[in-house]
Amino acid sequence: MKTFLITLLCVFFYSGFSSGADWNVSVAKYRHDKVCAISYTFDDGLAEHYTLAAPQLEQRGFRGTFFINGSKVNKDERHIKDTTRVTWPQLKEMAEKGHEISNHGWAHRNFAKFPFEVLKEDILKNDSAIYAHVGVMPRTYAYPNNTKQGEAMAFVARNRVGTRLKQRSVGSKCTARDLEKWMETLIKTGDWGVGMTHGLTYGYDAFGNPQRLWEHWEQVKANEDKIWVGTFHEVVSYLKEREAIRLTVTEKKNKLHVVPELPLDKELFTEPLTMVVEGGTMKKVSARQGKKKLSVQLRSDKAFFDFDPFGGEIIVTIR
Ligand SMILES: [Zn+2]
Repeated sequence: MKTFLITLLCVFFYSGFSSGADWNVSVAKYRHDKVCAISYTFDDGLAEHYTLAAPQLEQRGFRGTFFINGSKVNKDERHIKDTTRVTWPQLKEMAEKGHEISNHGWAHRNFAKFPFEVLKEDILKNDSAIYAHVGVMPRTYAYPNNTKQGEAMAFVARNRVGTRLKQRSVGSKCTARDLEKWMETLIKTGDWGVGMTHGLTYGYDAFGNPQRLWEHWEQVKANEDKIWVGTFHEVVSYLKEREAIRLTVTEKKNKLHVVPELPLDKELFTEPLTMVVEGGTMKKVSARQGKKKLSVQLRSDKAFFDFDPFGGEIIVTIR
C-alpha cells in the first residue's frame, strides 16, 4: 500500500502539472533531450586504447570508458613489461581529457572461478591502484569474462553508480552494416547501447582494421542531435537519478518554481539532469537555480536546460 501511494505521488509530481496553465515539467529521458544514448567501453587496458581509440573519440568530441586491470598496467614509459598494455601516466592523461578509467578487476579474475574473499581483495586493490595513479575513484565496474554471479556481484555494486550488466560486442564480428543497424535501432527504440571493445589492430576480438569503428563514429557524429555519447558512468548515473527524482512544481504568474528531490547519495550521483518545459508558446525562457543562471535552449515548443538535482529550487521564467 505504501509503495502504491509513493508511486502515485511520483506520477503526480513527475508529470509536473501546475494549476492554471498547461506547462509540463519533466526530466528528459537522456541528456539534452536526446532520443537515445551510447557508451563505448574498452576492456583490458590495451596500449592502443591510448594511441588510437582515445584520440579518435576526442576528434569527434566523444569520451569513452576504459575498464582496466591494474596488474597488467605498465608503470610508465621507461618501465614497460608488456608492450601491448597501457601505462599509468597514459591512463591519467586520458582521465584528464574526460575519459572514464574504471575497474575491471586487478587481475581479471573470473567471478565463477574464485572465492569471494579473493575477488573482494582483487576489486578493492584495483580501486586503490586506479585512485592512486589516476586520481579518480572508480564508480563503475565491468565483470571479467562477463561473469555476473555470486556474492562478489553484490559486493562490487556497493559504492558505485552501476556495473556493466549488458553490452554489445563491438569488434571482429561487426560489419559496417551491423554497426549502422545498431545505431538505427537505438534511435528507433530510444534505448541505451553499451558497446564493448577489446582489440583494435591486435589482441582479443580485434577489428584488424579499425577503420570500421572510426566510420561508425562518423555516422554517430552525424546523428548527434539524437544520440548522447556519454561515458558508462555518465549515462548509468543519469538514468538512475532520473528514475529516483521527484519534482514538485508550483506556478506563480509567469514563473515556475520547481523543487527537485533526489533520495540518492549525493557523493556518488553527481550527474546533472536535463529538465524539459513544454506545453505552450515560449518566446523567451530563463532559468536559475539558487544564484546560478542555467543555460536554456529553446527548440520549437520545448525549453530544456541542465540542473543540479541536489541544488535546490529552480525558478523558470517564461515569456
Ligand atoms: Zn576483460
